[in-house]
Parts: sequence; structure tokens; C-alpha cells
Amino acid sequence: MLDTRPLLLNTDFPEVSRGTLETLQVNLGYKCNLSCTHCHVDAGPNRTEIMDRQTVDQVLEFIHSYPVKVLDLTGGAPEMNPHFKYLVSEARATGMEVIDRCNLTILQEPGFADMAEFLAAESVAITASLPCYMEQNVEKQRGKGVYWESIAALQKLNDLGYGKNSALQLNLVYNPDGINLPPSQTELESDYKSELLDQHGIVFNQLFTITNMPISRFGGMLLSKGLYEKYMDILRDSYREENLATVMCRSLLSVDFQGFVYDCDFNQMLELPLAANGNKKTHLSALMQQVLDGNPIMTGEHCFGCTAGQGSSCGGALEA
Ligand code: SF4
Ligand code: SF4
Repeated sequence: MLDTRPLLLNTDFPEVSRGTLETLQVNLGYKCNLSCTHCHVDAGPNRTEIMDRQTVDQVLEFIHSYPVKVLDLTGGAPEMNPHFKYLVSEARATGMEVIDRCNLTILQEPGFADMAEFLAAESVAITASLPCYMEQNVEKQRGKGVYWESIAALQKLNDLGYGKNSALQLNLVYNPDGINLPPSQTELESDYKSELLDQHGIVFNQLFTITNMPISRFGGMLLSKGLYEKYMDILRDSYREENLATVMCRSLLSVDFQGFVYDCDFNQMLELPLAANGNKKTHLSALMQQVLDGNPIMTGEHCFGCTAGQGSSCGGALEA
């Protein structure tokens, strides 16, 4: 696969520094039951990288020693990590918020039949990808059969109280199919809500629109189709300085499946380590009780994906 990394390293993106750490985003491994075209971690069924129990325990040690408010679990399909339930239960016992970045279809897979009930019992917030409310568009990005499995999973979550009970947050994620920026998050959320309710009786809390990053599988597609320069022009031309104050790396730390840390999930995929440690990777175990506030953030051309238009983060548009 063609790699955009060498093109992203030299940048005139403005300097950004860390604020207060609020969210620890942990990648539990690259194994996934799907292989979506836009996936920025190149996840799939054949990936074997997975966080082991020792590293999971280091994550727990970190959240016991550092006042982070949110544990944000991602992958791959994070539920496929055999230590997923252990980590969730231990983290929830501290009272912190736990988010599961769920692809929905995993809840319908053999061996995961009790996962939805487990998530509800632990009051885990679910952030679920559903790139469109129309079958054709979902299956183009995510594969055949994914739309109806996702709808069935959403109905199951609604039956458990997700999207209805305020303790059971169900948020959906939209990302564009192609080289365009996401439309207005507010307007698209309204369309999603009415379409999913009318067609399937589904309710949810919020829609997060996320800009595709020019890295990994999506970046390779841009290069192979000769669209990289055009896409970067779109991101750069849509730069909005006001989004700089809230880019997610200011309050988030990303942990890979081996326990190494990065300023964000995208830097993790590009293997851009924390700036404070030169070019060396930093392990989570070296950061216990260290103050990160004020440290510089490692930036690249891909950062224009976070500041373009309404802005983009794992929690959706920044201006929202
Ligand atoms: S479900 Fe998510 S992690 Fe899995 S392949 Fe799709 S985008 Fe990647
Ligand atoms: S890509 Fe990462 S480092 Fe760059 S602005 Fe976005 S969150 Fe921050």
C-alpha cells in the first residue's frame, strides 16, 4: 500500500501545546471483524496485534495515578481483545467514564452475544460508526451485509435503554465517502435522527462528523488515485484558526497496543512519538504522575484534517 507518511512530516501547521489531560484513548489492538475502506488503522480480521494483560494492567495503573476523566477504548474492534471486559469493569469501578468505539456488527458476531448487555450493565458510553443512514452507502465503505447487522445492533441497544436512558449514551459517527469534508454536523444529525426513527424506530443521542485523515488506508487510496494533493488543498484551504484551541490532542493521550504513547490516534498510526522525548517512543509506564501540561505537540500536514471547516475530533465537529 502507498504511504503518505513521508509527505506529511514537513509542515507549516501552527505550533500547539498540551492543556490538561482529560482523556486516555487506548487502542486495544488492530484485529477487527471488518476491513473498511476509510480505516485509518488498517484494521482487519487478519491483524494479530493485540494489547496483552500486562499492558492492560499498566493502563489501569495509569488511570489510578492520574486524574483522567475518560477512558476511550478503540481498535480494531476493542471488544475482540480478551481483556476488554476486565479493563472496562476495573475502570468503571473508579467512577470514570468509559467509551467503547464500537463498529456495531461485532455485537452480532458469534461469541459476542452478551456484549451489549455487559456494556449496558457497566453504563459504558457507545460511540458507534454508521457512515450513512442509507444501506448502499454503508455497504460501499464497510462491506456487504454490514448495514442490516448495524441496524439490528442499534435496535438491540435501544431495547437495553441506549439512546433513551441518560446513563446509556449512544452516539453515532459519520465520515465522508471520498475527498470531501463532512457536511454540517447539526444538519446531518437531524437527518440521521429522522431517517433512523422513521425507517427503523432507532433513537440515539448525538451524531459526530469526522473528517477522513490522509493517512493509512485512506491515504494510500488518495495516492493511488492521484488525489492526495487535491485533498490536502481542500484541508488547507478550509483551515480555521479558531479550531486550534480545541484540537483533541490538547486534552488527550493516545496509547498503542504495546503501551507506547502519542499525542493522538493519527500520530500513533504515523509513529510520531511525543515531541518532548525527541524521536524516541515514550511508554505509558514512564509517565505515571508526570505533568504533561504545556508540552509541545508533534504536528504534521495531517493536522489540517482537524482544523478544516467545522473541525474534527473523535468527539465530532470542534465548533459544536
Ligand atoms: S470497523 Fe473501525 S477499526 Fe474496523 S476496519 Fe472499520 S474503521 Fe477500521
Ligand atoms: S492530527 Fe493529532 S496532533 Fe494533529 S491536530 Fe489533530 S489531534 Fe492534534
